[in-house]
Amino acid sequence: MPQAIELKAQSTTAAFQALKCKECGEEYELKASHVCELCFGPLEVKYDYDFLRRTVTRETIEAGPNSIWRYRPFLPVETDTPIDVGTGMTPLLQANRLARRLGLKKLYIKTMRSTCRLSASKIGSSPWR
Ligand SMILES: [Zn+2]
Repeated sequence: MPQAIELKAQSTTAAFQALKCKECGEEYELKASHVCELCFGPLEVKYDYDFLRRTVTRETIEAGPNSIWRYRPFLPVETDTPIDVGTGMTPLLQANRLARRLGLKKLYIKTMRSTCRLSASKIGSSPWR
């Protein structure tokens, strides 16, 4: 059931500097956009890694909600009350028989059956595939 979650006051907007084209390096102001106007390359967030190193730790991430919103410091969204539909935290299943068949010592398969609520295109653009 989708629900609004309350995030701890943690301003990370200072961590987001710009959108940067992965292909040509052109930078854009932060806005809802995903493609470069010059070369049609994908835009990525340009982070202030020094700021993130000072403010985000493994412990702060682990203390977050059991969803993709625990990675809120890395998500350039403008709301402090996001709607949580349980996205993220998809389990890894150990596939021993397939591992043996492929000649691997260990093999894990990420299953999307329990929390998949996105279209295939959105899953493909998620940094947490
Ligand atoms: Zn470009």
